[in-house]
Amino acid sequence: MANYMSVETLKFLMNNVHDLNEVLKAKRYEDYDQESVDILVDSIKDWADKEFYPYFTEMDEKPVVYQDGKIIVHPQIGKVMKQAGEQGFLGPTFDYEDGGTQMPHLVQAGLNHIIEAANNNIPGYIGLTSGAAQLVVNFATQEIKDMFVPKMLTGEWAGTMALTEPQAGSSLSDIVTSAKPNEDGTYNIEGQKIFISGGDHEYCDNFVHLTLARIEGAPAGTKGISLFAVPKHRPTEGGGLESNDVITAGDFQKLGQRGYATTHLVYGENNNCKGWLVGAPNKGLKYMFLMMNGARIDVGMTATSTATAAYHASLQYANERPQGRKMSSDGSKDASAEQTLIINHPDVRRMLLLQKAIVEGSLSLVLEAAKQSDFAHTAEGDFKEDSHDRLEFLTPIAKTYPSEMGRIAINNGLQIFGGYGFCMDFPLQQYYRDIRIMSLYEGTTGIQSLDLLGRKSTMKNGKALQLLGKDVMEAVEAAKTYDELKPYADKLASKMQEVQEVMMALLPHAMKGDFQRFLSDATIFMEYMGTLVIAWQWLKMATHAKEALVTGNLIYSSEFYESKIHTMKFFFKYEVARTSGLKDILLDPEVLTILKEKELIS
Ligand SMILES: Cc1cc2nc3c(=O)[nH]c(=O)nc-3n(C[C@H](O)[C@H](O)[C@H](O)COP(=O)(O)OP(=O)(O)OC[C@H]3O[C@@H](n4cnc5c(N)ncnc54)[C@H](O)[C@@H]3O)c2cc1C
Repeated sequence: MANYMSVETLKFLMNNVHDLNEVLKAKRYEDYDQESVDILVDSIKDWADKEFYPYFTEMDEKPVVYQDGKIIVHPQIGKVMKQAGEQGFLGPTFDYEDGGTQMPHLVQAGLNHIIEAANNNIPGYIGLTSGAAQLVVNFATQEIKDMFVPKMLTGEWAGTMALTEPQAGSSLSDIVTSAKPNEDGTYNIEGQKIFISGGDHEYCDNFVHLTLARIEGAPAGTKGISLFAVPKHRPTEGGGLESNDVITAGDFQKLGQRGYATTHLVYGENNNCKGWLVGAPNKGLKYMFLMMNGARIDVGMTATSTATAAYHASLQYANERPQGRKMSSDGSKDASAEQTLIINHPDVRRMLLLQKAIVEGSLSLVLEAAKQSDFAHTAEGDFKEDSHDRLEFLTPIAKTYPSEMGRIAINNGLQIFGGYGFCMDFPLQQYYRDIRIMSLYEGTTGIQSLDLLGRKSTMKNGKALQLLGKDVMEAVEAAKTYDELKPYADKLASKMQEVQEVMMALLPHAMKGDFQRFLSDATIFMEYMGTLVIAWQWLKMATHAKEALVTGNLIYSSEFYESKIHTMKFFFKYEVARTSGLKDILLDPEVLTILKEKELIS
């Protein structure tokens, strides 16, 4: 069986740490139980072993190309899209009446982890189609839904998310693609979009681009952006398809994710491109954020999963590679003794533990966000609102921590491979290249950090941060019941006190209206909060593991649970310790990055 993720760890996290049964109490999920979810996990692993993992290297070696006006992707994309449609894996969280299976987000995230670890170049085609269909389902008229959604959910048609333009990347207020109303209720679309993932290939009959554009005369900035469904081919009255004047002008050749098409689209060059308005005019960005929030959590999961696959490859290599000899207690080495496996060297063990701590901590965080998404959908009253606020706060961290720290995890894995890590014969270099995009698309780390500090930490007078403090203290109290975990619980409690100190130092800048100063170290704040949030996840994991060991209620081996506790201790010693330095930076009054009268970067 292909070894790129741990089904045991995934089930432990979903079923125990994140208490799937609690999520499944909602009426919406009455057709699911833990046993059926476990079966689903095993069957998706089987699918990923057969249809995803074997094509991982090949997709990199034979990347997407643009030839004679066509995008050529690996044929496996066509096969998997069709299978995803047949299995109900396109839009699984949708209502039954919209063609979905009302799958909990927690379960969907867990299943995504498996396929993304197997081959991170494929799932984007599935995820974007689901996300685009979701936007149409939520906001478009029945007529538009009927026109597009059924074919998207079978995988015959694909979907994309088309925001970026050459002059409008992070700053979507600068979008200029235009929409002019037609008499038949459609709009004439003109403009171009770049970097559009999964934007074209020969294995789907049509592509529905959920496109942001500006209706003539709309207000400037984000308040004048509308959302349109713009198909590559438009349906005719006779039931066929005709060209909709959306031209694929190229495919960007990239450092990584080379099997995942990144297209350049030109709309309306012949003045014959029609778009269907989704929802109300000028509300497009608000709607798009619904998709983007889900997509941000998905990117966090893709990064987690890519780094997870790299960890498993590193672990296997370290267990097979003999090199050097164990040092005796007096520091001497016996040159006549057999070489030892590199996993026996403390420095290699440190790198493996760092990888494990980052990837399993990230997985727990992304599943936490997915669980909050479920509660935000299915709960009622204050609990619903609180879950929504928790989700809002965790989303930028769930996108950024796995993307940034996953890269560091893979870097350590590559180091474990020594010189072979740098060579194309081994997979680490591909994981290293593939993960690099994840801190860039769906909002760069800089943009996520502005969101975390500038909006999420201050919204509703800091309510989300207070909820986090409450959740962390609950985990601290639970951990304190075990003597072995108490020192770590106490450490996290005192670290959370320090967050208040940091906020008290930063907020006065915002209150004085000096937002540039308030946000100048937002990315450092992200790193700081990200580490503490992962420490919280590790404390929860260790508490559940300890409970299993103490009660003897073991589903997996005792080593499995002991390794969770050991990795928690590693994370506190090697990673939580770093937050002191980050706090010092955040509290330091010296300002070196804000542009003054003279340019001092030359
Ligand atoms: C492989 C790939 C796939 C993609 N897929 C899609 C897709 O499917 N659909 C889609 O619409 N787009 C897609 N994108 C576009 C992607 O979302 C953008 O590249 C990204 O949002 C950044 O925009 P930009 O490249 O224009 O960089 P810029 O916005 O120019 O940013 C450059 C740098 O400046 C920083 N910066 C910018 N503004 C600020 C600010 N206000 N404060 C602080 N720092 C700032 C950024 O953090 C970054 O470090 C994709 C891109 C790539 C490379």
